[in-house]
Amino acid sequence: MTQSTIDENLEKSGFAELGLNESILRAIAEMGYRQPTPIQAGSIPHILEGKDVIGSAQTGTGKTAAYALPVLHRLGGHREGAAPRCLVLGPTRELAAQVESNFVEYGRYSPLKCCLIHGGVGYGKQLEELKAGADVVIATPGRLLDHIQQKTFNLSSVEVLVLDEVDRMLDMGFIDDVRRIIRLCRKDRQTLLFSATVPDAIKRLIAVHLKDPVEVSIGIKLSPAETVKHEIYPVGAMQKFDLMLALIEQMEIDSMIIFCRMKSGADRIARWLEDRNYIVAPMHSDLPQKVRTRSLEDFKEGRIKILVATDIASRGLDIAHVTHVINFDIPQHAEDYVHRIGRTGRAQRDGDAFTLVAPDEQSHLDAIEKFIDQRIPQRSLEGFNYMYQPIIRDNDQAPKRRAKRNSGSSRFGRRR
Ligand code: AMP
Repeated sequence: MTQSTIDENLEKSGFAELGLNESILRAIAEMGYRQPTPIQAGSIPHILEGKDVIGSAQTGTGKTAAYALPVLHRLGGHREGAAPRCLVLGPTRELAAQVESNFVEYGRYSPLKCCLIHGGVGYGKQLEELKAGADVVIATPGRLLDHIQQKTFNLSSVEVLVLDEVDRMLDMGFIDDVRRIIRLCRKDRQTLLFSATVPDAIKRLIAVHLKDPVEVSIGIKLSPAETVKHEIYPVGAMQKFDLMLALIEQMEIDSMIIFCRMKSGADRIARWLEDRNYIVAPMHSDLPQKVRTRSLEDFKEGRIKILVATDIASRGLDIAHVTHVINFDIPQHAEDYVHRIGRTGRAQRDGDAFTLVAPDEQSHLDAIEKFIDQRIPQRSLEGFNYMYQPIIRDNDQAPKRRAKRNSGSSRFGRRR
């Protein structure tokens, strides 16, 4: 983008009216942000005023910028050798890494230092960065507590505490760690809490630890993005893999995530697909962090076409170009369905999401449809050799998709 176009965009941008400084406006104009999303328009003015905020917004709504931009504005610039003034806590290593890279991008004209702290990697780089003086620390709870115990980090300088994806931290059993960390922070801090859902345990945490918070709820009811086409394919458990292969064969796909319930299942499916020459990687929490980071990077860059993941990849991660999601196993928690299929259709792009449903998964399907308050269209793959076709729902006019007989040489993601 030329300088004059950036300047014009800066003036026109709805962000200028929110009161963000020039360096931030320039960075986001270069990233192509024109108008604040609803969660950004709702949160940024309150955060700039120093208020505590509860942001309820589903993943992909721009919630990272909703807190990162005003935090960068308030911190101003880097203080040489100073202790961290902002701490962002998130549930997974991948989310923390993504938030850090967002801070770096938004802060490219604001001289601030960030430090990423999470488990699964050595302490050396984290210690060096903390020693050198970081303004913003982005961390997962476990490793942060290790640093606190070893007295390599203390929270006394933290003026802004951001709790991101708190519902996920609750699901993952981190809520006590989060409480411990909050208690170690100073009382006069600003607290920003973001969560797609706000169950009772989080309400209690809010009541105890936030001061007169402003609530910004954007689409608090989780619903699938309108840009995602989603369908269910009833099939016997024995034929799930074959049906999935047949579906993959007939799609034009740039990048796909296949979700499984178990880590062992993800490994197995990745192996089976690899045996069929697909370029694929598993993604789950038993894999070494280095492998997870590399696979994610390769997937984002298009070097890996299929990621076979457990729910670790379903929330928060901003992988912009996912064209297809297949739920090999139906999610156990209804809201995970929305998170999983939310991997596609991000930022108004189109995406397809297919869910394979075996007869014993019917109750989970019912729960999902109740949760999203809509019927998911039911399909069968014409030409697929079904051993039997389970009846998941008999009052549905199930349109058919024809299976491609000729699995030509241009199939996506295969090694030639
Ligand atoms: P998030 O919900 O923070 O994961 O953001 C989802 C995606 O939306 C990311 O790719 C962001 O870069 C992008 N994004 C965030 N805010 C805006 C905006 N105001 N305009 C355009 N894209 C945005």
